[in-house]
Amino acid sequence: MMDTAAHVLVFPWPRQGHINPILHFATALVDAGLQVSFLHTERNLRRLAQAPLLGLRLLSIPDGLPEDQPCSFLDLMESMCTTGSAAYRALLLSLLSAVDAPVTCVVADGTMPFAFDIAEELGIPALAFAPHSVCSYLALLSMPKLLELGEAAFPADDPVRGVPGMEGFLRRRDLPRGLSFAEKGDGDPLVLKLAEVTARSCKARALIINTAASMEGPALAHIASCACEVFAVGPLHARSTIAESASLWREDDGCMAWLDGHEDRSVVYVSLGSLAVITHEQFTEFLSGLAATGYAFLWVLRPGMVQMTSSKLLGETVEAVGGGRGRVVEWAPQRDVLRHRAVGCFLTHAGWNSTLECAVEGVPMVCWPFFADQQTNSRFVDAVWKTGLDMKDVCDRGVVEKTVREVMISDEIKEAAQAMAQQLRLNIAEAGSSSFQFERLVRFIGELNISSSLMKPRMNED
Ligand code: UDP
Repeated sequence: MMDTAAHVLVFPWPRQGHINPILHFATALVDAGLQVSFLHTERNLRRLAQAPLLGLRLLSIPDGLPEDQPCSFLDLMESMCTTGSAAYRALLLSLLSAVDAPVTCVVADGTMPFAFDIAEELGIPALAFAPHSVCSYLALLSMPKLLELGEAAFPADDPVRGVPGMEGFLRRRDLPRGLSFAEKGDGDPLVLKLAEVTARSCKARALIINTAASMEGPALAHIASCACEVFAVGPLHARSTIAESASLWREDDGCMAWLDGHEDRSVVYVSLGSLAVITHEQFTEFLSGLAATGYAFLWVLRPGMVQMTSSKLLGETVEAVGGGRGRVVEWAPQRDVLRHRAVGCFLTHAGWNSTLECAVEGVPMVCWPFFADQQTNSRFVDAVWKTGLDMKDVCDRGVVEKTVREVMISDEIKEAAQAMAQQLRLNIAEAGSSSFQFERLVRFIGELNISSSLMKPRMNED
């Protein structure tokens, strides 16, 4: 157990895929005896279907965006860097002077370098949290080299030389990209922004990564050579004791009873995460391909996820085309679904949380990456870990049918997925590499606590 004077402020990027892993991280700190405050945006705190307390003190700041309007990553970034950062600074100042338990350390999502800069400026040590894969992190860190070599993301099979350790298998279509490929292949604004914040987060006092050495050892070794301190502590959800959900949507538990009614490994679970929005044409290709496989399927279709189509119409279309074998939910209890014996494969966008949640359960994957890190993750699934197949930028009913069938029946893929799950269980077991790294991190935070306390009197004198 840790000295109770350590008080960590945990600050996620305000999106579902970032909140989930850092919440597991925060509760692990609580279990280790640290005091933890968790900083949401006001909008998310209101939206949380069920705000888990778990020994955390919940705080919030405004994100500065209008209510109920969808916003892009770059809009949110802009607003968090202005309105969000001003409110964050004021909050930190008040927490620093709190008499009961002043904040002694900040752990902020690597997407928000302002959060480290402001904390350090106020004398509070700040660590970066990377919720993405190390392979995509390394690809983003390599962006200057990639641009120099003319190797930015592009729909082509040309091998990439600019990312260390990935020369043998990474192609230009596997590099992180925006919602579409940049026209001249010279870097999309979203990816350039991600590359910029990634480079800055690598300069924080320490980098905490939600991955395991068994999955990403070589990429971790490269990152370790350019960051101050690296802690690979994942998969965090598998180490976590949280039963409550931090979902921004209400989970439809009814699908669990539906799964109970199916044979072992007979159902395809389909989810493209919390952000992807697809066209009606892409929806039709997926649906036709899935229906043609003959397998039952459980499909997460968030409201508004298919452009210009109502949820009711989507449900009716799936019912009609899927021949009664399809079940639609707006949001699923995904970790429980992946753990269910009836699930035979996961058709996923290869977001990092989904990839890790699937890997821990040993479920084979069919990947249809959408944007950002997903392109690189899906290449690793197919070409490195061999735990699934990557459809990449193709969205065609014939390809969906063929790929899903192949993954559902392949013994090689199933065995590779199960071997990876077993390895991950070893990583998170008591003497495993991720547990060891987590304990080292808790000690590291404890030592920061001491230097932070030394700085306080000086601040109070100002
Ligand atoms: N998720 C969920 N229910 C769903 C779909 C997704 O709970 O119906 C969760 C999933 O378990 C994961 C997160 O939402 O933890 C999605 O994160 P990911 O990194 O996979 O993708 P993103 O949403 O960031 O694109």
